[in-house]
Amino acid sequence: MRIILLGAPGSGKGTQAEKLMDDFGLPQISTGNLLRQAIADDTEIGKQAKEIMAAGNLVSDEIVLDLIRISLDSPSSQSGFVLDGYPRNIAQAESLDVLLTSINQPLDHAVLIDVDSDTLTKRLSGRRMCSLTGKILNIYFSDQSEIDECLSSGGELIQRSDDNIESITNRINVYREQTEPLLEYYKSIGLLIIADGNGEIDEVYKRVLKLTNMMD
Ligand code: AMP
Repeated sequence: MRIILLGAPGSGKGTQAEKLMDDFGLPQISTGNLLRQAIADDTEIGKQAKEIMAAGNLVSDEIVLDLIRISLDSPSSQSGFVLDGYPRNIAQAESLDVLLTSINQPLDHAVLIDVDSDTLTKRLSGRRMCSLTGKILNIYFSDQSEIDECLSSGGELIQRSDDNIESITNRINVYREQTEPLLEYYKSIGLLIIADGNGEIDEVYKRVLKLTNMMD
């Protein structure tokens, strides 16, 4: 199965991609994660991407296409994948089409995880990572016991550098202006599926599985 997950920042694409990876062995290819890793490793790409990402803007199409090309080339991607956060504009979608056609791996579905605006802002501004476990928590939505568990074991709640309110507002604007036109693009070629992304993670996951015919 070859899927792209579309949705605004905070819609839960990454969470759903991880579940698909755990259950079906489909590698999650997240350009955001690859770029964050490049920043952590202080590579040339990381240096170029750092400021742009912190401000919530898109890094260049060339850089992300290179990352995607390398990921799709990997043996683990040969029997399917979930793209999370790519493509993010029409030029990227067109490059992806060319690339997938050249390797004879056409997309099966483009799944929009559709979440209302108020929820998006809360999910992003409340998002924290436990420094000990790497677990993603939310100060508005997680059980207090989960937050206490991290803190009482000596962990800290770390906020992503682009989860501040200025960057969040910009990322949502960038999404509306540059990424949303992809919905029409994938609809016109019959690949678009819309999953309600509000509610609990497992509820959303069930909707995704059902709509993509991956449910037993
Ligand atoms: P994400 O983790 O998907 O929310 O991505 C975090 C940030 O990484 C975005 O706000 C962009 O700055 C950058 N980024 C991720 N994917 C792309 C992409 N496909 N094109 C350009 N920039 C991207």
